[in-house]
Amino acid sequence: MIESSVELSVVIPMFNEEEALPALAKRLRPVLDGTGEAYEVVAVDDGSTDGTAEQLARLRTGWPQLRVVRLRRNSGHQAALTAGLHHSRGHYATSLDADLQDPPEKITEMLALARSRRLDIVYGVRANRSSDTPFKRRTAAAYYWLMRRMVGAHVCAQAGDFRLLSRNALDALKALPDQPQVYRLLMPWFGFPSGEVTYRRDPRVAGQTKYPLRKMILLAVDSIISFSVAPLRLAIWLGALAFCVCLAMLVYTLSVYAAGDTTPGWASLIIAVLFIGAVQLMCLGVVGEYIGRVYTAVQQRPTYYVADDAGDADDADDAGDADDPGDRVPSAAGACP
Ligand code: UDP
Ligand code: MG
Repeated sequence: MIESSVELSVVIPMFNEEEALPALAKRLRPVLDGTGEAYEVVAVDDGSTDGTAEQLARLRTGWPQLRVVRLRRNSGHQAALTAGLHHSRGHYATSLDADLQDPPEKITEMLALARSRRLDIVYGVRANRSSDTPFKRRTAAAYYWLMRRMVGAHVCAQAGDFRLLSRNALDALKALPDQPQVYRLLMPWFGFPSGEVTYRRDPRVAGQTKYPLRKMILLAVDSIISFSVAPLRLAIWLGALAFCVCLAMLVYTLSVYAAGDTTPGWASLIIAVLFIGAVQLMCLGVVGEYIGRVYTAVQQRPTYYVADDAGDADDADDAGDADDPGDRVPSAAGACP
């Protein structure tokens, strides 16, 4: 437990958000100043390659509560969130997206609810997703349908990464080994006393989504593999199904053989070989995914590296931090990506 004078940390992971940043600062700052709380904004620059770092440095000159934690390279939304939550010093920390899809005004409501009912987690729950594109709505619905079946009914279909955590919950997070996390599944799993605040999800204020289909699929695979062994069980069921089909084929083959008519077996043979081959490859793939995660876990490489933490005077405890934190803007990336 850290002793800090900061009451509220606002963690904002951002990747190439130069277009959204001015609107974010304009709307967020009055809300936070208006709370009368001692606060800090932990902006996690997730290896942005546009003008995000310059904008943050500029904003910092007139906004002392803004801290910029810059990651050395793009580590992904969940890893950037981890970095921000690990570095936040507040008694409460809330996380929200940089694109103003999560309304900052709701932070006050979340904090009041957490305090009045002594809650450790307050989830921001979307009242509806009408502002999302039909594609986003469908993929999100499929994702949560799958998660609720594979991980458990406690996964809320309308809660994303807009939530408030108490220091208790933050310490529980910090105590976990540094492995890729999917927070929307992890937080309910802890079982802390929790509540909800509903909100209307607005459209992205500027710029493009940073979650293309490829990243969505990766998040879905991470979510399933890190919380469920159901695919391994599915592999067993597929194996059982293949075994039954093989038995049927065996009976058929023997009866054809007994009738002395063995030549026309080519088609069934090919089908059987292809079927068994496909099932085996699928099962191998599933097992491979799990082995891959175990391999990554035993390597114990941190999920993110902090290049610098502008605004933190004493960040000597950050094993992965660069030596010299400060207000500098990163120099252009080297020749190799
Ligand atoms: N983000 C990030 N690293 C990434 C991808 C996204 O820090 O590799 C941030 C992004 O800047 C935003 C938040 O994660 O603040 C959510 O991303 P986005 O709004 O693009 O996702 P969507 O709302 O479209 O699902
Ligand atoms: Mg968004």
